[in-house]
Amino acid sequence: MKKQAEFRLYGIFGNPLGHTLSPVMQEAAFETLGEKAFYLVLETGLPGFRKFLKSIKHCRLEGFNVTVPYKEEACRLLKHLLPDAKAVGAVNTVFKRSGKWIGTNTDVYGFLTSLEKDAGFNPQGKQVLVLGSGGSARAVVFGLALRKVSRITLLNRHAFKAKKLAAEFKKKFNGIEWNADGLASSVVGEALKDADLIVQCTPLGMKPGDGSVLSDELIPKAGAKKKIFFDLIYRPAKTKFLTQAEARGHKVINGAGMLVYQGAKSFEYWTGKRAPVAVMKKTLCEALEH
Ligand code: NAP
Repeated sequence: MKKQAEFRLYGIFGNPLGHTLSPVMQEAAFETLGEKAFYLVLETGLPGFRKFLKSIKHCRLEGFNVTVPYKEEACRLLKHLLPDAKAVGAVNTVFKRSGKWIGTNTDVYGFLTSLEKDAGFNPQGKQVLVLGSGGSARAVVFGLALRKVSRITLLNRHAFKAKKLAAEFKKKFNGIEWNADGLASSVVGEALKDADLIVQCTPLGMKPGDGSVLSDELIPKAGAKKKIFFDLIYRPAKTKFLTQAEARGHKVINGAGMLVYQGAKSFEYWTGKRAPVAVMKKTLCEALEH
């Protein structure tokens, strides 16, 4: 009897996952390297995700990603974490070594690589405004702190969360000036004026008809030195936040590059092989065009 070809299973946990383009990108990478593998979309509620992590030793997957809104929960529940995930407080990639499931965070690498390579921005000594304080904001802030920015201002819908995050990171990186407040506070205008880089880390802008976390009149016109507005959202390619900033003459970048680089790093943890980044990028761009 002909032996069935064996294949490996990978996947992504999150909710909602209707927008995710990780499967097309990862499956293109597997195919390029001749790996027989599927990458599954595993949309689950919080109780289901917790139950899965508690019985992870029986998991048949080879590795998986974790996305909104479970990155912090995965960090709390996984027994083994690489130092980056521990420091960030969020896990987006889980891989297996010697029978142990280990959590890491490739968003840090994805964000910094896109910022430096795609946007050509060197964060050292710069002032940054970060909007949002969830799992991805943690990775962004950690990456910027590693690159020795001079000041980070965190603004969040619920101010207490931004303040908690700033206080937590201040203990790890005390050479940086930390500020935190609510998105509706009076400091927003001032923070926008001073910032060299503004990073949008909330899901606001993903759904049709969504607005922006910033109101138009607060965004200053670009002077001789343009600011960079980075939106972690990649679908739509241009959110209201990016449209506003572009209309004022600033440089804008969406989250597509970050998605490719973080996915490439996850792929390398799972397979031990160098990821075909160009193929992943091309596949993602084509999928976004459709
Ligand atoms: P998360 O952990 O659920 O955090 C969401 C954050 O957004 C919280 O700070 C929350 O504020 C804020 N927020 C949610 N809805 C809001 C609204 N309507 N107005 C203002 N603030 C709002 O999510 P996450 O993992 O950080 O992900 C955030 C976004 O980044 C998602 O769109 C995700 O797709 C994107 N992302 C992209 C990449 C990439 O590779 N391009 C990687 C990671 C994430 P409260 O605390 O006040 O609730």
